Amino acid sequence: MIECIELTKRYGEKTAVNSLNLMIEDGKITVLIGPSGCGKSTTIRMLNRLIEPDEGDILYNGKHIRDYQPEALRRSIGYVIQNTGLFPHWTVEENICTVPRLLGWDKEKQKKRAEEMLTLVGLKPETYSHKYPAQLSGGEAQRVGVARALAADPPVILMDEPFGATDPITRARLQTEFLEIQKKLKKTVVFVTHDMEEAISLADSIAIMESGKLIMHKKTEEILTEE
Ligand code: ADP
Ligand code: ADP
Repeated sequence: MIECIELTKRYGEKTAVNSLNLMIEDGKITVLIGPSGCGKSTTIRMLNRLIEPDEGDILYNGKHIRDYQPEALRRSIGYVIQNTGLFPHWTVEENICTVPRLLGWDKEKQKKRAEEMLTLVGLKPETYSHKYPAQLSGGEAQRVGVARALAADPPVILMDEPFGATDPITRARLQTEFLEIQKKLKKTVVFVTHDMEEAISLADSIAIMESGKLIMHKKTEEILTEE
């Protein structure tokens, strides 16, 4: 369980996130949705300490995020962004093993893990391991981004518009594949999007933000039966 308690982040005069209270259930996909600029990215980046809040607390399983060692957070939280952030001069295999390498896994274990992850996201290891990001299509690059986030088997995955830069058909395929993966792995997922269709197809629960505030958080089935 991840708890955000009265979380606030300001940029000068601008309050990007305003006293946000949000409960994120283990093993479920929580979608954070709202218009551009409402504070979704700022919120998700506070969950892995890329951004420090001005006020409020984040608890992982009851323990304050500041009380975890940086390495423990790196191992426990995967992060996927739009346009993947893959390192261009590293191969697919090296990109996938970013965190395992930091954690000091031996070479053989890293290679094996990269192969498992590529297979999981539907890419043949023998074809893709040694390619560079520039040689991948948009959809392939996003799959590698997901593989990288999952490589150290973190319980939590943060996804910030991960499929936003792909065409509608590729996007639908990535969503379906991601749901299949989630069925197997049951990660605690926080997924940011501004697309309600994407939210409904993926979410166990949907949290709606507006101007830095959480205005609603309900199970997807409740939202669907209301209308
Ligand atoms: P979203 O992800 O919902 O599009 P963001 O969290 O990126 O929203 O941004 C929330 C608000 O904070 C926006 O008004 C944005 O312009 C502002 N903001 C985000 N990052 C910064 C920054 N580094 N400096 C100043 N303002 C920022
Ligand atoms: P994304 O839309 O992919 O989340 P960013 O988080 O970089 O991209 O930006 C989100 C919003 O925050 C945008 O509206 C952007 O203009 C604004 N923003 C980002 N960084 C700054 C900054 N340093 N100063 C002012 N606004 C910013």
